[in-house]
Amino acid sequence: MEEKRLAPEVEEKETVSRNFIQQEIDKDLAEGVYDHVQTRFPPEPNGYLHIGHAKSILLNYGLAQEYGGKFNLRFDDTNPTKEKTEFVESIIADVKWLGADFEDRLFFASNYFEQMYECAVKLIKKGKAFVCDLSAEEIREYRGDFNNPGKESPYRNRSVEENLALFEGMKNGLYRDGEKVLRAKIDMASPNINMRDPVIYRVAHMEHHNTGDKWCIYPIYDFAHPIEDAIEHITHSICTLEFEDHRPLYDWVVRECEFEQPPRQIEFAKLYLTNVVTGKRYIKKLVEDGIVDGWDDPRLVTIAALRRRGYTPESIKMFVDLVGVSKANSSVDYAMLEYCIREDLKLKKSRMMAVLDPVKLIIDNYPEGQTEELPIPNNTENPDLGDRMVPFSRELYIEREDFMEEPPKKYFRLFPGNEVRLFGAYFVTCTGCEKDSAGNITAVHCTYDPETKSGSGFTGRKVKGTIHWVSAAEAVQAECRLYENIVDEEKGKLNEDGTLNLNPNSLTVVKNCYMEPALGSAEAFDSFQFMRNGYFCVDCKDSTAEHLVFNRIVSLKSSFKINK
Ligand code: ATP
Ligand code: MG
Repeated sequence: MEEKRLAPEVEEKETVSRNFIQQEIDKDLAEGVYDHVQTRFPPEPNGYLHIGHAKSILLNYGLAQEYGGKFNLRFDDTNPTKEKTEFVESIIADVKWLGADFEDRLFFASNYFEQMYECAVKLIKKGKAFVCDLSAEEIREYRGDFNNPGKESPYRNRSVEENLALFEGMKNGLYRDGEKVLRAKIDMASPNINMRDPVIYRVAHMEHHNTGDKWCIYPIYDFAHPIEDAIEHITHSICTLEFEDHRPLYDWVVRECEFEQPPRQIEFAKLYLTNVVTGKRYIKKLVEDGIVDGWDDPRLVTIAALRRRGYTPESIKMFVDLVGVSKANSSVDYAMLEYCIREDLKLKKSRMMAVLDPVKLIIDNYPEGQTEELPIPNNTENPDLGDRMVPFSRELYIEREDFMEEPPKKYFRLFPGNEVRLFGAYFVTCTGCEKDSAGNITAVHCTYDPETKSGSGFTGRKVKGTIHWVSAAEAVQAECRLYENIVDEEKGKLNEDGTLNLNPNSLTVVKNCYMEPALGSAEAFDSFQFMRNGYFCVDCKDSTAEHLVFNRIVSLKSSFKINK
């Protein structure tokens, strides 16, 4: 309970060398407390996993790997709720996608109910547990609070025989829900409220998805979890800070149940991110209220959503490593996650041309009906990605913002009289534009200089601006979805009534984008850099060969800097 908090500057050093969990494990191995390392990830199958869970998964898996140990995936399904196969399946898929290999060690805590029952019987026989008839309300009253010690239950001193008979009766369905509970007999005067004779078993006449109606008593988390860990020979049971005060009870359970080499619990701070929603409860509400398009809506930070958006396992691992582990709760800037995906994709992905807000550019002196194929490097920073051929012709699409009739200072793109480079093609000089009756620009005109072809070695003169383009006749049309953070944290994460302060602009759908033809054959999860527009990924749900849909993973620019 009285864990000493490390000064932030000490913690910062530790994350670059050995973090406090590694130091504890090093010590345990050196002192012979354990001769191996075994970790686990224990999700409750009641929702999809999110970026916080990814941290826990990669931390546990990473430690097992580092120490040549093993990593288990265990569903913590001791609560008799309806099976959500959807959640179990999504969790398994997400853990695998992250690369955390649990091999054949996929477990369900509900398979341990028999052993948990035996542990409870053992405690009763040792005089360490008793059946209590107080109501939930009375138990709460008797428990006392931070300032006042608890009061002992009048049922506390029942004999072992009576307790055994009553507990068996509980198991055999003789009692109604809430009529009796089994409590650990520890210390009603303990300064730690968790140690004041906590309830460890309750009566609940409910079907369980795995065990059906076999049981009508179910173990409480604080009793079940340490036993699950011990059964699986977990050495280091890593969990989040809210369980710190429960550690003495964890230790009590594994000690009194007499497990050999009992596991130990180590806590770290939960990962929170700014401007997004972590926490299953909030995510679930957004899904149920139809505010987002399911658990994998790209604005969420569930693992399924990050994958759909175009994040890679590598980028998530980089992020988790950068964040490190800490004993102090804090929020990490969302921009750091974006930094990681940019870093990961930068050299791996082709830089393509896609025009999101198109206006025609007509090259008046380029031969009508002619198309030439120009070789364009896929990634100017990574020549290994080679070149591709891109068609070029008299009529192109360019971004509307790349032309201005009356440009401000330092505008180096198209305006009457100015010359720019069309990326990978020619220099063009703007000659004017066409407008409709309402004054909207419908086409921009220019002339090109054939001498200036890219790769021709032309050095006659320089231009300041380079713009991207696609050939109108060959272009493919597609939809692009642009995202902003779902929560507007500038004004606080929550509104006064406790609801999330949602950003109304979190999704912008851009319907008629024009892209170079190579993108026409892109498939689900393929990702690219679109020059100047950011990194995009083909949507795995809504994109079809006839109607391509791209999600913007992240824009190109970042305010986030990292000191390497
Ligand atoms: P939530 O708070 O989102 O509802 P949870 O803790 O209820 O999540 P579980 O399925 O019970 O979800 O958690 C499985 C594991 O993931 C636990 O070990 C838990 O400590 C860890 N975990 C949950 N949220 C985070 C987080 N934000 N950062 C790091 N680890 C987390
Ligand atoms: Mg939970």
